[in-house]
Amino acid sequence: MGQEATSRPLFGVAAGRLESALPDDKPLYTDAEARAEADRCLYCVDAPCVKACPTSIDIPTFIKKIASGNVRGSARTIFDQNMLGYSCARVCPVEVLCAGACVYQEWHGPAIAIGRLQRYATETATRVGQPALFHPKTAKVQRSVALIGSGPASLACAASLALEGHRAVILEKRAVVGGLNSTGIAPYKLHVEDALHEAAWVAALGVEIRVGAGVGPAGIRGATLLSEYDAVFIGVGLGADSRLNIPGEDGAGVVGATAWIEAMKLAASGEPRSLGRVVIVGGGNTAIDMARECARLGAAEVTMVYRRELGDMSGYEHEREAAQLEGVRLIPRSVPVAFRRDPDGKLTGLSLARTDGGHPVAGTEQDIPCDLVGLAIGQAKVREIADELPGVTLDARGCVLVDAATYQTGNPKVYAGGDCVNGGKEVVNAVAAGRDAAHAMLRLWDTGTPNRGPRTSAAEASHG
Ligand code: SF4
Repeated sequence: MGQEATSRPLFGVAAGRLESALPDDKPLYTDAEARAEADRCLYCVDAPCVKACPTSIDIPTFIKKIASGNVRGSARTIFDQNMLGYSCARVCPVEVLCAGACVYQEWHGPAIAIGRLQRYATETATRVGQPALFHPKTAKVQRSVALIGSGPASLACAASLALEGHRAVILEKRAVVGGLNSTGIAPYKLHVEDALHEAAWVAALGVEIRVGAGVGPAGIRGATLLSEYDAVFIGVGLGADSRLNIPGEDGAGVVGATAWIEAMKLAASGEPRSLGRVVIVGGGNTAIDMARECARLGAAEVTMVYRRELGDMSGYEHEREAAQLEGVRLIPRSVPVAFRRDPDGKLTGLSLARTDGGHPVAGTEQDIPCDLVGLAIGQAKVREIADELPGVTLDARGCVLVDAATYQTGNPKVYAGGDCVNGGKEVVNAVAAGRDAAHAMLRLWDTGTPNRGPRTSAAEASHG
C-alpha cells in the first residue's frame, strides 16, 4: 500500500479541551432511573417508534429487556440493527424520530425517553472491562474491504463486515477517528472521548483503522485500493464550509461553522479564546449548534442571521427554541453583503441587507458590530475521491451516485453511503447506509446477485 498509518495514537485526544467546559445535557441514567422509565413503555404492537427509526431498532423489545434487568440483552437488540447505537442514542434528534412518534405524544404526556434508555443499555454493556457482546464469525472465504473515511457510515459498514468474518480496513486522513461524531457533534450531546470509545469498540471486533491515511495523489491511490481489496466503500462525508464571496471575507474573524466546531472540540482549553460578539450566518442545525455552543462558552452576544422567515429555517424547531432560551438572538429576512474591518484588518462588523423572497433589497443595508462570524451556509462536496476511482460519478450537487438497493456506484467494486451520497443528513441515516451497503456486499458474495435498484444520489431517502 502506498501510504501506511502514522504512529499517532488512534483513540486519544488531549485532556481538558475546550469542549469539556460544556457538560452533558442528558447524563447517563442510574439503574433505578432506567428501570422506572422503561416501566412506562406500553410495548406497543406495530410500534410507531420503530417505524420512525431509520435503522428500525426493535425499541419495545430493548426497553422491555431493560425493565427486566437484562441490560446486555437490551444492547444486543439495539446492535442487531444499529452497531453505532451508542452514538445514535446521544445524537439522534429523537424529538422528530422515535420519541416524536411515541404514542404518549397523542396523549400529551412525556414521550418515552428512548434515546436515554438506548444510551443506558449500550453504554452499560460496552464499558471497558465488560465481556464482549459479539464474537465475529469465521468467513468461509474471507473478503477484504477498504473504507475511505472513519465516520459513522464507514464504522457501521466495517462493523457489519467484521461480524461476518471479513477484513475491513478503515482509512482516515485525519489524526482522529470518528468523522463527524468526533469533530462535529455539539459537546453537550457527545464529547470526542465518547465517539472514540465507540470507534475503539468497533475496532475490537477486528476492524483495522489507520489514521493519517488519506486517499488521493498525495496518499494512497485509488488504483491501489481497487487492486488490493475486493471492494471499496466511500464514507467521506462532506468537505469544507462554503463561503459567501462578499467584500472583506478574507482575514481573521471569519470562520466556517464546521471548522470552528471541530477546532472547539479538539482544541486544548489553554488556547486563548475570547469570543466577544458572534454572528452566525445560516438557519440549519450546524448554525444552531455553533450559536448554542458560543452562548454556553460565554460569548458576549450571539446572533443568528437568516435570509428567509424563521419558519423556513431547516434547523429543528426544538433546537432553535433552545437556542433562544440560551440567549441567542435571531435576525430573519436578512443577508450579509459585506464584512467591516478597521484599518488594521480587524473584523468590526457585518453589513446586512433586508431580503425580499430571500434576495437582498438595495438601500436597506445596516451594520451590526461583531468580533467573529461563523458561516453555516453549506459544505462543499468531496469530489477528489471520485477522480481516484474510475466509474464513480457525481450528480449536479456533487453527491456520489449510487444504486438505491446496493449502494454500488458506477464502478461495481465501489460502494458509497452517508453524507457524501445524501448531501448531509443525520448520523443515523449514515449508519443505516453503511450497514445496508455491507449487507449488499455480503449478499453479492454469497449469491453472486447484486440485486440492483434505480441509480440515485439520495439512497437514504427511504431511511427517513
Ligand atoms: Fe414504548 Fe412509545 Fe414505542 Fe409504544 S411508541 S413501544 S410506548 S416507546
